[in-house]
Amino acid sequence: MTKRELIFDGNEKQVFATDDPHKVIFRYKDTTLAYGGIKRAVFKGKGALNNRISALLLDELNRNGVQTHYVATLSDCEQLCRKIEIIPIEVIVRNRIAGSLAERLGIAEGLKPVKPVVDLRYNNDALGDPLINDGHALALGLVSRAELDEMYRIATRTDAILQDVFHRAGIELIDVKIEFGRASDTGDIIISDEISPDTSRLWDEATGEKLDKDRFRRDLSDVVASYRRVLERITEVLKKQ
Ligand code: 5GP
Repeated sequence: MTKRELIFDGNEKQVFATDDPHKVIFRYKDTTLAYGGIKRAVFKGKGALNNRISALLLDELNRNGVQTHYVATLSDCEQLCRKIEIIPIEVIVRNRIAGSLAERLGIAEGLKPVKPVVDLRYNNDALGDPLINDGHALALGLVSRAELDEMYRIATRTDAILQDVFHRAGIELIDVKIEFGRASDTGDIIISDEISPDTSRLWDEATGEKLDKDRFRRDLSDVVASYRRVLERITEVLKKQ
């Protein structure tokens, strides 16, 4: 596999072409952004931790029949992924109310809804990733009805698999953001971005301690140490299977 030109240079990751037209290389950076880029910092080692956490979780999903872009880990900060056509919709599954939903509805953080809440966001930096509904997604021509149904199906299954993995590691999955794309070789809808403490909320089941990006958002310190604890605990669980 030969690494070719840089095709995307984001704040938190880069994507490179390869000599295989259906594969790309994802490179995780140490940079962290929050609140639409207003808050920014660099945490040495964060990229490598997210590379490993995401690889473990995406691989576990692949093995459970949920297609993701993850193919193989190449180095500390790089993984080989399937090439996709981006669908600019973020699907957020919430098992407890937290973050923006708690603020928007004036609900105390931590409330458990009768069933998980699923939000859609239009992934558009200029508009600040606004909340949208099914009608908006279809009207914007972002997806077909069948594709959107498939995204909901995958998101629900993903949430169930990840809740189980994290629970066995003594961690509660509070919410998770999932991004999708159309695989360039098959056209299938697949998960096409990282799943890590940067893109989910993870609370220690015993202490309630936050082990995710909220440590950075809310100036709670020990960001890298918390991500390392997540990696150690899920490694233990997934290794034992
Ligand atoms: P909220 O809507 O409460 O801010 O976020 C819900 C969940 O989705 C959290 O786990 C959060 O980390 C993740 N999330 C939402 N939007 C983004 C985003 O633009 N970037 C990243 N990395 N995560 C996001």
